Amino acid sequence: MQDIRNITQADVKDRTVLVRADLNLPTDGNVVTDFTRLERLAPTLQMLADRGARVVVISHFGRPEGRVDKAYSLRMMAEALGAALSRPVHFIDDCNGGTTALEVAAVPFGQIAVLENLRFHPGEEANDPEFARRLARLGDIYVNEAFSCSHRAHASLHALAELLPAYAGPSMMAELEALRVSLENPQRPVAALVGGAKVSTKLPVLENLLPRVDLLIIGGGMANTFLLALGQNTGKSLAEPNFADKARAILAAAEERGTTIVLPLDVTLGEAFRPNPRTWVEDADRLSGEGLILDIGSRSIEDLKTRLAGCKTLLWNGPLGAFETEPFGRGTFEVARAAAELTKAGRLISVAGGGDTVAALNAAGVAEDFTYVSTAGGAFLEWLEGKELPGVAVLKQSTTGYQEAPQWRASH
Ligand code: AMP
Repeated sequence: MQDIRNITQADVKDRTVLVRADLNLPTDGNVVTDFTRLERLAPTLQMLADRGARVVVISHFGRPEGRVDKAYSLRMMAEALGAALSRPVHFIDDCNGGTTALEVAAVPFGQIAVLENLRFHPGEEANDPEFARRLARLGDIYVNEAFSCSHRAHASLHALAELLPAYAGPSMMAELEALRVSLENPQRPVAALVGGAKVSTKLPVLENLLPRVDLLIIGGGMANTFLLALGQNTGKSLAEPNFADKARAILAAAEERGTTIVLPLDVTLGEAFRPNPRTWVEDADRLSGEGLILDIGSRSIEDLKTRLAGCKTLLWNGPLGAFETEPFGRGTFEVARAAAELTKAGRLISVAGGGDTVAALNAAGVAEDFTYVSTAGGAFLEWLEGKELPGVAVLKQSTTGYQEAPQWRASH
C-alpha cells in the first residue's frame, strides 16, 4: 500500500480537509440505529481537527436521485456525529450551492462540519467534472474514508480525488491492509468461506477466489446447488438447477488446480422455513428430498473447525445457513466462534465482510474477535470478485500536490 498516501502523514494545520465518509447509516426514519461506521469515522475526524484542520465531511445518504429531498437530509447524521464525538459539529445545508464556500470558510480551523447530501445534486452520481470542481474549491486536501462507497465512480469518490491532493484515511488504510493480508499476500494455508443464499450472485466471487485460496468452503443455500449438481435430491430446498452446470465447472476447475472445495457433510433440515419447526439431520450424500435444508449439521461443524485449525488465514463472506431463523444459526455461530478463538490465540488471521456476515458475527457475539470485519457490502463483494474499485484506484494515481487556495479566498 505504499502507493496510497495516508492522511496521518500529511500536514493539515490550517488546511481545509474534505473527508468523503459513508454516512449512509441505518436509521428508523428519525434516529441513527447502527453506530458502527460512525465509531470508526469519529477518531479520524477528531485527529484531523486536533491537528488544526478545518474538517469538512461529505457523504451521500439514500437515493434522492439528484433532487433535494429533506427525507434524505444528513442533518440527523451531523447530530449523531456530534454526540459520538462529544463536540459540536456544524451542519451546512448544501454541498454545492452559491454560498457553500463562504459557509465552509466560516467554520474555524480545528472544528468539524458536515455538508448536506451529495446526491441532492445529479452531478454526484454522474461523476460530473464541474460538480467535482465546485467541491474541490471548498478544500485544500481530499481524504477518502469511505471504502464502502469506493466501488462507485461518483464525483466525490473519483473526479474530486483527481483535483486535490488525495489521501486515504486511517479506516480506509486499515480496510485495504486487511484485504491485502487476506487475499493478495496471505499467510497460507488460506481458506475462503463463501456462504449465503445463491450461487448466481456469488459466481464471480467463487471464480475469483478459486485460484487464490487453498480451501474454498461453500455453505448456505449455495451449497444446495452444489449438492444438486452432484446428483442429490434437494427437494424444495433453496437451490438453482440452472446453475448446476456452473457448480460442476467450479468443482472440475478446483480439482485441476488442487484447490480443496469443502461442501457440507451433513445438513440440518426443517419441516418449514419458520422459527423452531421440527428439525432433523441428514447426510449430504444421502438426502431424502424431504423438508428444507436450512443449516449445516454437527459433523460439518466439526469438519470446518478442524479444517480452520489447520489454516493461517480465513476470508469469510456469507452465512452457512438461514441464521436469522432459530435454530438455523447454529452452524454459522459455532464456526464463527471457532474462528474467533483461533484468532484470539494468534493462530488465524480472520477477515470477514458483507452486510449479512457482519450481522451473523454480531449475533454470534464474535465480531470484535475477528482480525478485521468490513462493514462494506457492495464494495467488499466487488473486491472479492477481483474488480478494481474506482475510488481506490484513483488514490493510487494521485500525484497532485497542494492546490492553490480556494477561489473565494483569492478575492479576500
Ligand atoms: P447472501 O446475501 O447471498 O449472503 O445471503 C444471505 C442470506 O442467505 C441470509 O439471509 C440467510 O438466511 C440465507 N440463507 C443461507 N442459507 C440458507 C438456506 N440453506 N436456505 C435459505 N436461505 C439461506
